[in-house]
Amino acid sequence: MIEASCHCGAIRLELAERPDVLKSCNCSICRRIGGPWVYYHPKQVKFTKGAGETVAYIQGDRTLAMHHCPTCGCVTHWESTDPHNADRMGINSGLIDPVELKGLPLRHFDGADTWTYLD
Ligand SMILES: [Zn+2]
Repeated sequence: MIEASCHCGAIRLELAERPDVLKSCNCSICRRIGGPWVYYHPKQVKFTKGAGETVAYIQGDRTLAMHHCPTCGCVTHWESTDPHNADRMGINSGLIDPVELKGLPLRHFDGADTWTYLD
């Protein structure tokens, strides 16, 4: 189990397992937010504090809701707005203690253009 929290601690998550890869994306929103992301099935993610208190930003094609903490502004996660595509969510790896992520590969995804990996 891995813990994650926003800067002010209002939002706290427990992740069922250590991720196996960090994914950096250059799409219009990820390049602004940073990341990189780690991915989980929503059942592997438990909000231990602040469940339902994050603020969602839904952009353009409305397929994803990008959530942030209303107090400190940290982007916490994204989730699909499509119930048929709801088996994956992204967690901002910046919320996790870097010690937990040490040694993980960082992959660069070209979400801005080709939707392929650049590395
Ligand atoms: Zn916060």
